[in-house]
Amino acid sequence: MRRTQSGDEMAFRVGVIGGGQLARMMVPPAVHLGLDIRVLAEAEGSSARLAATQVGDYRDVDTVLAFARDLDVVTFDHEHVPQHVLRALVEAGVRVHPAPEALAVAQDKILMRQRLTELGLPVPDWAAVADSGELAAFLADHGGRAVVKTPRGGYDGKGVRVVRAADEADDWFAALAEGDQGDALLVEELVEFRRELAQLVARRPSGDVVAWPLVETVQRDGVCAEVIAPAPGAAGRVAELAGQIARTVADEVGVTGVLAVELFETTDDRLLINELAMRPHNTGHWSIDGAVTGQFEQHLRAVLDLPLGSTAPHADWSVMANVLGGPEQGTLADRLPALMADQPTAKVHDYGKDPRPGRKVGHVTVSGDDLDDAVWRARAAASFFEG
Ligand code: ADP
Repeated sequence: MRRTQSGDEMAFRVGVIGGGQLARMMVPPAVHLGLDIRVLAEAEGSSARLAATQVGDYRDVDTVLAFARDLDVVTFDHEHVPQHVLRALVEAGVRVHPAPEALAVAQDKILMRQRLTELGLPVPDWAAVADSGELAAFLADHGGRAVVKTPRGGYDGKGVRVVRAADEADDWFAALAEGDQGDALLVEELVEFRRELAQLVARRPSGDVVAWPLVETVQRDGVCAEVIAPAPGAAGRVAELAGQIARTVADEVGVTGVLAVELFETTDDRLLINELAMRPHNTGHWSIDGAVTGQFEQHLRAVLDLPLGSTAPHADWSVMANVLGGPEQGTLADRLPALMADQPTAKVHDYGKDPRPGRKVGHVTVSGDDLDDAVWRARAAASFFEG
């Protein structure tokens, strides 16, 4: 809590770097909690424009230091802020959550695999490969199929490619030589999975950790399409194991704020970690409407080192469906009245973005005591926004 010169209490002041939908969705809980939220956005008219927004380049140290002046804590809408900028903030005495050392593990998929392997946590077989010869050797050891990933900057399946021959990643090896992508690509076994799951937890700097229920995530074309909370049939051993994995990552890597652990449930009943995200995550959007404390409120509490809220769900089931921009789409607002009339139990979240094809522009959540009904209603509500 801050004080004026006369000793009056002032609101906690939180700065968010990045003006996307994740920053936008931090605004309502910030308002409810009486927090002063500021956003450093990439451009005018960002998704987070409802908050006090400043436009500037998050890669520029002076810009970010000026933004951080007088803030109680700086946190993030994305993981792309360069390490030298993060460290400059810390050196200037700014509280940064998650901290640069933790965030580094989410910024580079090779570093992530190294760290998780050191911690003895379950991951797919992997290697860092610097050229097609090394990729060929990995393919030979893994049945001639593998998944190649660019270590940095990927999202929504961009930077992920299934390969069956070593020359299928030649363009990415060539790009390595030019860019700032490091000196190797990540290659992994092609995991045979039954389904994808996600475990979200939140951790305070002082150490408390809380977990939401394990969820099932359905991906289409590398993009999250639907999330079912809790993951059907995963109440016992699987949920316990996922919770242990996420807590271990949070504690050992020192993650503060929300941590999302994306998991594969393999056809032979193992859990393998796919990815980590150190911020609120698409697979936790259901919690805004479906849990006592949603992930955006929890993230704000955690980065401010305030007591964490209950993660208990409000209903037996919550189903979240993403809304993607389509070729012929008008704004979501055009479709809203018809959706509201048809699906009064649906909670609609419009990110205030131009509906470019394939872009995540909103989501809907439906909660209830019947899973099939909730799935049907969430899909029906989302379909109002399609093409
Ligand atoms: P992004 O960082 O773009 O989200 P991910 O690494 O999460 O990329 O991969 C996107 C999707 O690709 C995953 O959700 C999963 O469906 C598939 N995928 C990723 N890695 C593997 C793997 N090793 N085996 C099988 N499928 C994979």
